[in-house]
Amino acid sequence: LVPIGLAAGLMLSLLLSRFIRDFTSMPAMIRNGLKRQEFHLLYQPVIDIATGRTIGAEALLRWRRRNGEMIAPDHFIPIAEETGSIRQITRRVLELLTDDAPRLIDIAPDFHIGLNLSAADIHCPAIVRDVTAVVKHSGIKFENLLIEATERSFVDAGKAADAFRNFRSRGARIAVDDFGTGYSGLGYLAQLEVDYLKIDKLFVSTLGTGSATSQVAQRIIEIAKDLQLQVIAEGVETEDQAKMLGSLGVELAQGYYYSGPLTASALLERLRSEHHG
Ligand code: C2E
Ligand code: CA
Ligand code: CA
Ligand code: CA
Repeated sequence: LVPIGLAAGLMLSLLLSRFIRDFTSMPAMIRNGLKRQEFHLLYQPVIDIATGRTIGAEALLRWRRRNGEMIAPDHFIPIAEETGSIRQITRRVLELLTDDAPRLIDIAPDFHIGLNLSAADIHCPAIVRDVTAVVKHSGIKFENLLIEATERSFVDAGKAADAFRNFRSRGARIAVDDFGTGYSGLGYLAQLEVDYLKIDKLFVSTLGTGSATSQVAQRIIEIAKDLQLQVIAEGVETEDQAKMLGSLGVELAQGYYYSGPLTASALLERLRSEHHG
């Protein structure tokens, strides 16, 4: 028993020290990364299940450090949210989007681009102005934007309602991201005017297994229909999942089955081939 206790203790202190290292050094690393332009965006196609056509894409942030190391968003975004640097990251995302968006919209004028915003962004009164600047400088329309609001950290429903109303009155659409996994409950959904509900891959992966979680996935789809929200299913990896989602009335999907995240150029290639043959 003693060696097991010792090993567990060692393991715990190792995890704790890594956690402390990340939290103390990450904000400075992010600042440097922003200064050195180490960030770029990839775009994951969003597909109309019935026709197979690419109707939009979600912008996903990538961080390649100077030494070549890739740091995954799941590793640095939550820390950036906790330490406050998410606002600078979002401003960088908006700059990158301003560069990429015109080329995409040029080929597909009705295309929608998914923009991930964190709670701190949604709480910030400047966010509408920041996004308006993208629209102005890139020549795209608000109609081309799908704002994906995630509730990894708590979102103040009152402040979110203001921001969402503001975005929607200009023509942008709003999606509640990762529904059912974070703070976003039914009460939250009922208080807000949104257009889309994104079902997390956690639920999609259980479809057809008959498990309790797969029942939850089906209930979420029903709730979305009751509230007249469109559903976007995430993390679709198999044809079976796509078929099942289609039969449950889900119209839109993204996932490796269709395509992983692409560079802007690769997405353009895909759009060109869809639009011209
Ligand atoms: P998310 O918004 O839920 O994005 C979907 C994640 O699922 C992405 O991970 C995507 O690459 C991954 N994915 C897509 N298809 C599949 C699939 O078929 N199977 C599996 N297993 N995974 C799939 P990624 O790019 O690592 O991003 C992770 C999270 O980081 C995102 O989750 C989002 O919450 C956050 N994030 C990414 N970019 C941004 C950003 O620009 N701003 C903010 N605030 N958050 C971002
Ligand atoms: Ca998202
Ligand atoms: Ca999501
Ligand atoms: Ca997620």
